[in-house]
Amino acid sequence: MSSAAKPQIVILLGAPGTGKGTQSAWLSKELGVPSLSTGEMLRAEAAHNPELKRLLAAGSLVSDGLVCQAVAAKLRRELSSTGVILDGFPRTVAQAEFLDALLDELGLPRPLVVHLLVKEDALLTRLTSRRQCPACSALYNLETRPSRAGAFCELDGERLVQREDDTEQVIRRRYEDYRQVVNPLVDFYHRGDYYVINGDRDPGLVSSELLEIIAGPSALAA
Ligand code: AMP
Repeated sequence: MSSAAKPQIVILLGAPGTGKGTQSAWLSKELGVPSLSTGEMLRAEAAHNPELKRLLAAGSLVSDGLVCQAVAAKLRRELSSTGVILDGFPRTVAQAEFLDALLDELGLPRPLVVHLLVKEDALLTRLTSRRQCPACSALYNLETRPSRAGAFCELDGERLVQREDDTEQVIRRRYEDYRQVVNPLVDFYHRGDYYVINGDRDPGLVSSELLEIIAGPSALAA
């Protein structure tokens, strides 16, 4: 994806806490391709939209219409020539159908979908120990990837925060939503470029496998 002129659309699919955010940030840097997290977009929007802030804090999915319009605006404006790594979108079949139509309209290829699988009992620990920089969105984990600056971001020194929706009750709700939508989404994509990765491993190993799938085996030797 890095050297090829042809844009590629990569979708990272997975439950909350499977590492989509960490992997898409890493891949974006590695490949020089932008990543688009609908969660980040919505959290930024929620800073001046109390109703949206309430929805996100409760762990509820935002309406397909709102998310699709926001993604379409962003892809049309910025990303059509380079491709994009999508983190957290699509989350429903209606969103997946919308994305296919949008990609057709923009002359972009069908997406490559990588599904990160992590055992359910590991997700709760991962999410309750997640911390994030409110300024640059860098992700840390108290257990597996603590900040070298303690309670502050290594990159810009901001005090790290816990997301409002990373509490046990809300995590369970978000996971339930995921369980309800994941099978129809897999049915939608599994006949195309669809891969499954075991996300229950060291993030570096997951990254290598991801890169191999996206860029081909030669990427690792380069
Ligand atoms: P994430 O950062 O991907 O965990 O998303 C955080 C929250 O943003 C989710 O719990 C939803 O409330 C909302 N959200 C993010 N992406 C979507 C989407 N594609 N469709 C609906 N809601 C979304």
